[in-house]
Amino acid sequence: MEFFEAFIVLFATAIVGSLFGSFINVVAIRAHENSSIMGRSHCMHCKAKLHPRHLVPIFSWLVQRGKCAMCGKPISAQYPLVELAAALLAVISVARFMPEMAWGWVGFEFFFMLSLLIFVVMDMRWMELPLELMVGVGIVFSVWHMTLQSLAGASTISILWSHASGFAIVALFFMFQYVVSGKRWIGAGDIWLGGVLGAVLGWPLVGIAIYFSYIFGGGIALLLLLSKKIKPGMRIPFAPALISGTLAALWWGPGVLAWISHAIS
Ligand SMILES: [Zn+2]
Repeated sequence: MEFFEAFIVLFATAIVGSLFGSFINVVAIRAHENSSIMGRSHCMHCKAKLHPRHLVPIFSWLVQRGKCAMCGKPISAQYPLVELAAALLAVISVARFMPEMAWGWVGFEFFFMLSLLIFVVMDMRWMELPLELMVGVGIVFSVWHMTLQSLAGASTISILWSHASGFAIVALFFMFQYVVSGKRWIGAGDIWLGGVLGAVLGWPLVGIAIYFSYIFGGGIALLLLLSKKIKPGMRIPFAPALISGTLAALWWGPGVLAWISHAIS
């Protein structure tokens, strides 16, 4: 593929990705408010309906300098950050499979990570992880991933075993920490989210995800403690670390697993 052609494809991908990011912002807010995802977007402060020019991903927020065009009250940086993250995820998902374009895998990686952004937003803003949404994401993407593996020639038994054990191992591991720590290390929502990631990624890939999650989570907690943003014993949202670990496992997991099996054989 020509460089220029690749640039155009990735640029268009970024725009599409940022539009999906806008949608994810709406889903996260409406899931928190328990309201329908239909209906026009409005300002959280003055309730004014937003015009299409206020809804251009990333740019509207920058042009309005983070304020509502009608009432001037601040608009959360969550909006442009999620739109930017979605644009980057789309570009990386497409670039990873260029130029052959295995669309099944591109779609799986992008839409799975996009859905997980909902949980990052909800856990960071409100310490909420809605169960119905987690179960829905778990079912859709574990079926999608298992279908791709089946099409790639893996046996049905090994696929089912990998995803069932991925779910069980992570859920039990987190439940153990939940009980032992008296709910201090981990929240009930994290048990479900961990189980969902196990079911979607399958074992041993989810093991890599959990390993990276603890590195990311530990690093962030240490930085927050050192900068005195948090006190020892304070709960911090774990979903962002879990989901960063999942991203790392999707991108580098197969390489890490190949390296491990080479090292022990
Ligand atoms: Zn307003």
